[in-house]
Amino acid sequence: MKFYSTKNTNHLVSLREAVLQGLPPDNGLYMPTEIPVLPVDMIDAVKGMQLPEIAVKVLSPFLREELSNSSIADIAESAFNFDAPLVHLDENLYTLELFHGPTLAFKDFAARFMARLLGNFIEECQQKLTILVATSGDTGSAVAQGFYKVAGIDVVVLYPSGKVSPLQEKQMTTLGGNISVLEVNGSFDDCQALVKRAFLDAELRKSRALSSANSINIARLLPQTIYYFRALAQLPVGQPVIVSVPSGNFGNLTAGVLARKMGLPINGFIAATNANDIVPNYIHSGTFQPKPSLATLSNAMDVGNPSNFPRLLKLCNESYDALKQLIDGAAFSDKATLDGIRKLYVDYQYVADPHGAIGFLGLESNEQNRDTFCHVFLETAHPAKFPDVVFKALNKEPDVPMQFTDLMNKKGSAVQIEATYEILRDWLLKDSG
Ligand SMILES: *Cc1c(COP(=O)(O)O)cnc(C)c1O
Repeated sequence: MKFYSTKNTNHLVSLREAVLQGLPPDNGLYMPTEIPVLPVDMIDAVKGMQLPEIAVKVLSPFLREELSNSSIADIAESAFNFDAPLVHLDENLYTLELFHGPTLAFKDFAARFMARLLGNFIEECQQKLTILVATSGDTGSAVAQGFYKVAGIDVVVLYPSGKVSPLQEKQMTTLGGNISVLEVNGSFDDCQALVKRAFLDAELRKSRALSSANSINIARLLPQTIYYFRALAQLPVGQPVIVSVPSGNFGNLTAGVLARKMGLPINGFIAATNANDIVPNYIHSGTFQPKPSLATLSNAMDVGNPSNFPRLLKLCNESYDALKQLIDGAAFSDKATLDGIRKLYVDYQYVADPHGAIGFLGLESNEQNRDTFCHVFLETAHPAKFPDVVFKALNKEPDVPMQFTDLMNKKGSAVQIEATYEILRDWLLKDSG
């Protein structure tokens, strides 16, 4: 299987190149040249399967030219060693919990798979690689945990001091080993600007091979298809299904549409966002208008220019009408988000995080009602990752899973730096020596 750039369909690379490069040189996004359609009996067979088996079935067509069957099975076993349970809340209403991985957010699926795939490619070429990543919280913790102890790969995470939650901070800073964490005296945008400059620094990259793990890497998109299969495997057979996806950069929803193209019978999607409503606006108006991002209570979705949008459009054959027919859009304020958390708690005794609550609100606003359609929303993070927001809504703190009370008692370590490029550069050069 080859991968093309969304900006130039003639630019073809192998999976390995696509994963190692991250972005094509023309700044497009890599996409598979073919979308394998799984035979109907395979979709039926998925019903009885757990995530690793599903992953082998669904991902092999993308991987098998470059990885042996046993490598694919090993990657699937070790990356997806947790479940994505579908929780029944009410007649025809379900939530797919995607937070049972080590950092309690759905980014674990992508980060763990990418780490193992990259580890495999690196091992073959005996290169050493540094993953450099700026984070506002969820990505950094998932990448740090996902790449922990992967041979041949060092990770350097930059996060803005005082601006990530205590749990997210511990998830990054308590690992050590091949994971280094820089606590930057500045904002998330400062961290991102530092990382961007490092990638443009050809001299630095001669001494230290850098790669990125951000959400545009194709290795993060592909594994996100598998939990859609796992969702349908747990639903009653034969009912039409609508899935609502709380979205920021739209990797999650794009993977859902990809799964559908592979043959998974999902009838429609809802693109549910916070006030960063670029895609819902596009769906309602036909105009795609990026904006500076707005800070909201569901901060993992505070994205003003959703990076996976070109992929979503490609999967809909570049057709606005096709996209609009498949995906409905809805945006919600912070006040509505708090109301959503409350409603889920009062009506169904379910404690949701602010992102999942927006997914739920997307379903409530949809005209395809629960008399005929099975409604599923994705719960992308454990509520304990956003205790302040949950407290605001419910006047009580969410329960913290046991392993995380232990984590909170551990001592973390981070290197504090000023938001100055020369300081980052010197640190990277010294550390590589
Ligand atoms: C990253 C994230 C999202 C947004 O996912 P996209 O794939 O960027 O749309 C939603 N919820 C949580 C908790 C996240 O961490």
